[in-house]
Amino acid sequence: IELNKDWLQGYVDDWVKFYSKHTKEGELASYIPLLTQSNKEHLGISITGVDGFTIESGNVDIPFTIQSISKVFTFIVACMERGVSYVLDRVDVEPTGAAFNSIMHLEVKQLKKPFNPFVNAGAITVTSLLNGKTSDEKLEPIFQLMETILGYRPRLNQEVFESEKETSIRNRAIGYYLVEIGSLESELDLTLETYFKQCSIEVCIKDLARLGTILANDGKDTDSDQEIIPKQVARLAKALMLTCGMYDASGKFAAYVGIPAKSGVSGGIIAVAPPRTRNENLPFLEGCGIGVYGPALDKQGNSIAGIKLLRHIAKQWDLSIF
Ligand code: GLU
Repeated sequence: IELNKDWLQGYVDDWVKFYSKHTKEGELASYIPLLTQSNKEHLGISITGVDGFTIESGNVDIPFTIQSISKVFTFIVACMERGVSYVLDRVDVEPTGAAFNSIMHLEVKQLKKPFNPFVNAGAITVTSLLNGKTSDEKLEPIFQLMETILGYRPRLNQEVFESEKETSIRNRAIGYYLVEIGSLESELDLTLETYFKQCSIEVCIKDLARLGTILANDGKDTDSDQEIIPKQVARLAKALMLTCGMYDASGKFAAYVGIPAKSGVSGGIIAVAPPRTRNENLPFLEGCGIGVYGPALDKQGNSIAGIKLLRHIAKQWDLSIF
């Protein structure tokens, strides 16, 4: 499609400027102490179509830790290593409607397996399924997958890793409960160390957009068409993003934005608009990945301005899959 890039850029710049005001209404995550060093007023977006067409606006070059967005890629790698049915025997695919780090849900419902791979209980379980005897061995295929897609190897933010490790009481509590119900396949300390490291992988919005395009493209490389992620796994990941990706605001996000997405407490969001149709007046309907960064969060832990911006763009460009 022959889109006028300057014209589109002007719109996106205006929208980012407009929604930046809302950063003031949110708060930085503080339970991982190092995250409080982010700039609350930052807001940026990067959108890459499966055809490579890219629009970026706002604070585009800020590195941040991937946090819960990593759960998508750990899940994908675990499915590729162990097989989908093995993983789904150990973690369900149901939304919780509860906070991401809820313990209560695990016990009250007397679950045999955590609800889904994107709440902490499920994510820690999935991390325990990764092959490898050390955290670095377990994470290597995740780094490799990202390197294949991004063309460079992302770094681990050691300070954030240590900051989270030192303040990990809640995740430890979840972990002990998982040990008790027999969910973990690797030893607790190793599993948690791996989990904190996966959350501390550093990315920027361009990376999230690029990772998103591969999911939009059903796991295939957008240039060579080669399979990077099996289609079945990519689809499962997108279904989970749609139903469970935005914490306990996933229903609202599906209703008002209508595309698969996953957020993290550092303020990042990865969103995926699968291909639908061609339309000369509306960009990105042939599929795109979107990366957003805005560290001021709402009560559920999602980027407050980021969600508003995505909602606006999805409406303007008719991106909803529904
Ligand atoms: N590392 C964070 C935790 O487990 C990730 C939380 C998130 O981004 O939702 O507490």
